[in-house]
Amino acid sequence: MRHIFIYILLFSVILSCNAPQEKKVSIPKKIEKPAPPKKLFGYILDDYKVVKSKIKRGETFGTIMDKYHVGPGKVYEIVNKIKPEFDLRRLRAGKNYTILKSKDSTEQAKVFIYQQDLIHYAIVDFKDSIFTKKVEKEVTVKLQKASGIIESSLSQTLDDMHVSPIVANDLSEIYAWTIDFFRLQKNDRFKIVYEQKFIEDSIPAGIGRIRSALFEHSGTPFYAFKYVPDSITGIEEYFDDKANNLRRAFLKAPLKFSRISSRYNLRRKIAFYGRVKPHLGTDFAAPIGSPIMSTANGQVIESKYRGGNGNYVKIRHNATYTTQYLHMKKRKVKVGDYVKQGDIIGWVGMTGNTSGPHVCYRFWKNGRQVDPLKEKLPEAEPLPKKIQEQYLVDIQPLKQELDAIPYQTKN
Ligand SMILES: [Zn+2]
Repeated sequence: MRHIFIYILLFSVILSCNAPQEKKVSIPKKIEKPAPPKKLFGYILDDYKVVKSKIKRGETFGTIMDKYHVGPGKVYEIVNKIKPEFDLRRLRAGKNYTILKSKDSTEQAKVFIYQQDLIHYAIVDFKDSIFTKKVEKEVTVKLQKASGIIESSLSQTLDDMHVSPIVANDLSEIYAWTIDFFRLQKNDRFKIVYEQKFIEDSIPAGIGRIRSALFEHSGTPFYAFKYVPDSITGIEEYFDDKANNLRRAFLKAPLKFSRISSRYNLRRKIAFYGRVKPHLGTDFAAPIGSPIMSTANGQVIESKYRGGNGNYVKIRHNATYTTQYLHMKKRKVKVGDYVKQGDIIGWVGMTGNTSGPHVCYRFWKNGRQVDPLKEKLPEAEPLPKKIQEQYLVDIQPLKQELDAIPYQTKN
């Protein structure tokens, strides 16, 4: 039995990354027009003989050029000339390439086009002077809709989801502060509108972001709309239908995957000494080398090795909050650095006084160490008042669109 019912509808709306172009061209039928010449990155293909192939294991630019009558001297010249921009000695087996050969009897290669991935190409042109340039295929973004009803755990749901796990991950991050995904209720349900990228309108080229979402948890609807409140920073945030930021100022933990091995405890007994020594931090156990994230935006005020703390980093977030991360294997930031929420500041280790790999996470509020798991953490920056009005207007059609997506019913 499927635990989730998912279906996807393709929007008829196609949004281009570039300015939208009118695609329909009306040509009166009576006039015979010659077909436009077929082009590839500006080269008229009729002017050449075109060879398409894949780099084979052990093949180099030199061995390929040899097949198309370009001698070692010329190859050497080409490789060296363009080396600062594109290293032809690093072609990878399995990658596609296109060669444009001269149409005359020499059939000599003139242009080499290397396909780095679905979107990125490197052109090496040596018909006259030698030059290279990087080009990208145009990516169009189509919006897709999906909806699902949860019948089991989130992990089960994710396993059964027919949409990309990237979408699922995005969804869980958007609602990380709003919904506890480990406590989902049977019949919790959601609708999403997300971006699917295509090359030349047909070749799938990855998933973009979720544009808008509705998650109904225990019967309560939670809307989320992607919005860029500040065009200067361009940072995308998700706000609800009342313009509240869905993010909190602090992450719940400095590690993505971990378990709490020791909580903040003012009356902790140390077994060996038999006396009370409070534990003012929260220990998150994770394998050595796991990345440690700053739980909020801020500035690094300490980054050093000291005694029992081992390698540690301390971050001031504002006049009220400061956090500290102990026992790192290695630190990644230095005093004065500005860090964003989620930025990696170091890696889990066991330096200083510790019996196993973990991060001791310490949380100060107004100069006093408190238990972050019990604090009501502040909300992230709300949408500035003067943008709020426009935002509420902007999301109306998106909200209506979400509301109109039907839930797949059980058969
Ligand atoms: Zn600790």
